[in-house]
Amino acid sequence: MIEVKNLTKQYGSNLALNHISFSLEEGTILGFLGPNGAGKSTTMNIITGYISPTEGSITVDGFDTLENPLEAKKRIGYLPEIPPLYTDMTVKEYLNFMYDLKKVKLPRKEHIEEICSLVKIDDVYHRLIANLSKGYRQRVGIAQALLGNPPVLILDEPTVGLDPKQIIEIRNLIKGLGRKHTVILSSHILSEVQAVCERVIVINRGSIVADGTPDSLAHSLSNENRLLLRLEGEEEPIKYALQAMNGVKEVLSYGEKEPGVFAFSVESEEGIDLRRSVFALAARNDWPILSMKNTDLTLEDVFLRLTSDLYADQGSEHSSEILDGKEGA
Ligand code: ADP
Ligand code: MG
Repeated sequence: MIEVKNLTKQYGSNLALNHISFSLEEGTILGFLGPNGAGKSTTMNIITGYISPTEGSITVDGFDTLENPLEAKKRIGYLPEIPPLYTDMTVKEYLNFMYDLKKVKLPRKEHIEEICSLVKIDDVYHRLIANLSKGYRQRVGIAQALLGNPPVLILDEPTVGLDPKQIIEIRNLIKGLGRKHTVILSSHILSEVQAVCERVIVINRGSIVADGTPDSLAHSLSNENRLLLRLEGEEEPIKYALQAMNGVKEVLSYGEKEPGVFAFSVESEEGIDLRRSVFALAARNDWPILSMKNTDLTLEDVFLRLTSDLYADQGSEHSSEILDGKEGA
């Protein structure tokens, strides 16, 4: 459906996008995930034809955005980071205005009504946009993107600035739209792409640093084996014995969780499964195992690794912002 090849964007000496390539199949919800300044909006603005690339090409449904901009644009509905709303219009006036601007051919009244009921703005149809809540305004922005029924929807940070309830509503709306449209959305919040997207492209400093399903990303980077344990006994001897085992890299002690029961995390060298030897060790010493489980890296861990250069250079500012999103959502 969308084919992006070697996309590069240079702003003066700042390389905002550095040879980005990917292709997207019809009917997928793709998330661009990356910290502020990563290049998400730039990529979206180029795909939608708002700005031109320094280098590279894009086809939408077979139409090249540079050679055939009108055909390509017709197939895309776009919700920019700052939606182009005219706040002194009513929702009705605005959608009709955009309908004309986009030269939509579908039957006007039915088409607009259908969209309004889909994004649930029928009840504010006659109200001034200026008087709508941020959540409703965002829906009106999405309604505008749906005019003409384009097969592709591109939504730049669609839930930014919304309250938790509105965020959930917009996410559900996007998931529903994903049944009929190919969707690209951007977010700097992990839990968001995890909740909504089937595929995630992680962008950092203008480059793609990972591409896969949320689960596969977390899984592929989790070759680090970590075992979470709870053993009954005395903390120090247990920790010491765990550390002395073959194939153990690091043991962390998490303290007493129940009377006489201590929690540990045991990291093993790559490819080593410690579970059986932990069992044998515990049996030998009469330390009942009250729980033992493997942990995969979470998507948060993955993200921090992938963008760790940024993490190191600029402190945890961006990264903690990304993790904070989880609390808010
Ligand atoms: P994101 O949407 O991921 O937060 P952007 O695509 O907006 O990131 O920005 C990527 C980089 O390009 C940033 O370094 C930003 O400062 C730079 N940039 C974006 N737009 C412009 C512009 N119009 N002029 C100069 N630099 C820009
Ligand atoms: Mg942006």
